[in-house]
Amino acid sequence: MSEQVKNLINGKWQAPADKKARKYVRNDPGNGEEVSWYLMSGVEDVNAAVAAAKAAFPAWRDTPQPKRGEIIYACAEIAKKRKEDIAQLMTREMGKPIAEARGDVQEAIDMGYYIAAEGRRAWGHQIPSELPNKRMYTMRQPLGVCGLITPWNFPVAIPTWKTYPALLMGNTVVFKPAGETSLLGQKFAEILIEAGVPAGVFNMVVGSGSVIGDALVNHPDIRMISFTGSTETGLGIAAKCAPQNKRVSLEMGGKNPVVIMDDADLELALHAVLWCAYGTTGQRCTACSRVIVHEKVHDKFLKMLVEGAKKLKVGHGSKPDSFLGAVVNEKQLKSIHGYVEIGIKEGAKLECGGAPLTKGEHAKGHFYPPTVFSGVTSKMRIFKEEIFGPVLAVIKAKSYEDAIALANDTEYGLSTSFFSRDVNLCHRASLELESGLCYINAGTTGAEVSTPFGGWKNTGNGHREGGPTVIEAFSDIKTVICDYSGKVQRAQIDNN
Ligand code: NAD
Repeated sequence: MSEQVKNLINGKWQAPADKKARKYVRNDPGNGEEVSWYLMSGVEDVNAAVAAAKAAFPAWRDTPQPKRGEIIYACAEIAKKRKEDIAQLMTREMGKPIAEARGDVQEAIDMGYYIAAEGRRAWGHQIPSELPNKRMYTMRQPLGVCGLITPWNFPVAIPTWKTYPALLMGNTVVFKPAGETSLLGQKFAEILIEAGVPAGVFNMVVGSGSVIGDALVNHPDIRMISFTGSTETGLGIAAKCAPQNKRVSLEMGGKNPVVIMDDADLELALHAVLWCAYGTTGQRCTACSRVIVHEKVHDKFLKMLVEGAKKLKVGHGSKPDSFLGAVVNEKQLKSIHGYVEIGIKEGAKLECGGAPLTKGEHAKGHFYPPTVFSGVTSKMRIFKEEIFGPVLAVIKAKSYEDAIALANDTEYGLSTSFFSRDVNLCHRASLELESGLCYINAGTTGAEVSTPFGGWKNTGNGHREGGPTVIEAFSDIKTVICDYSGKVQRAQIDNN
């Protein structure tokens, strides 16, 4: 049964103000069945949500941090009880295989417990003064109203990465989920309300990115934008935030390489590559899309890879044996296939896959098989550009130095992976690979909530999500200087 998604403004679920708003219908990408619908909101709905968040800010800021943490803990407890229902919905709303959908919800639960625990941590420092009778310390304070803009590929986990630390630090929030996964956004919002987040502290508005997202970015009462999505959209947002001097945290695209050296455990590398290239149908920001293999083991590994890829089952995410679920929508399917055609035209050799699956159990959905290209060079677009689908480019490297240079030859810098049995070389590679995340003898995916997550170069702008570093993104530092000497003490003058 299809469910309506509404906006959450000041604790009330409501349809957009515009009574003639356009309807958006979301269908299961694996079988075409209707899952959810909503009316497209407009700028006035964003304005109402921001006004509610602004009004709720002082009381929430003054709520003790451990208390805010307790409410987030309660969110995790509720999500734990609803894990299966939310996971089933995720498989229908965006196509992810059920085991991965459960993992997405588990990540959201873990993030709740982790951030709740951070609520008891001291974030400031006591600083010794050069002068007598003077006390100095720092504390972290909230920014105000934060605008959170998220993609569809981790539709429950990513909203928690942003919302929980924002709320823990005393900010209030206006959240815009991806259009494709708005019902999952609503399920997340319901958990927050049930856990006791006060009216106005967390608001949600559903609609198109170019209208709702843009209105958040340009709203003068939004103090910070936290964005996860494509590099193109993120850089556009950053350009709009710059003249407003608005803080912006960006988590964007990737073109993540796995490097396989001649002494690597090839079986281990194979299973890691199959998982990190084809899990979530390649639609992960950390997905591996380039495998750089030492020439001594290149042919052997390529054969293993093609045999392995051909065995992976493609089907509706609800079937337990589906390794690859549906691609999120038709536009994405066409984009993936367009890149495959470009690869062929550029002279790469198509080893397997390479065309949408349209028959039998795949007839009603958007399915693409695991695809492998060999003979890829650094000049090709399939080497350079993010495809965000199950397409893997295999590149031959002459040496360790050549492999690292190829891995770093990209505008992105999210995740890298290095396979070798040489411990010294592994340490060297961890220094020389240019990325925010570097895996040794493991694939490019697998973030945990307590580790800093984010990318270099055109993947990010220096902020990190996850780990203690996320607290910095959602707060500002105040240095407090208290002089109780009863006289004017001149630093650098009276003490010299
Ligand atoms: P997208 O950029 O199309 O959309 C992301 C979000 O931005 C959506 O909510 C969308 O509605 C909104 N948006 C679109 N136009 C906007 C505008 N002009 N102003 C404000 N908001 C706007 O990305 P997507 O297709 O949803 O997600 C896939 C991309 O996300 C990939 O590039 C992937 O690598 C990236 N991603 C990155 C990470 C990371 O942590 N680095 C994680 C997941 C996904």
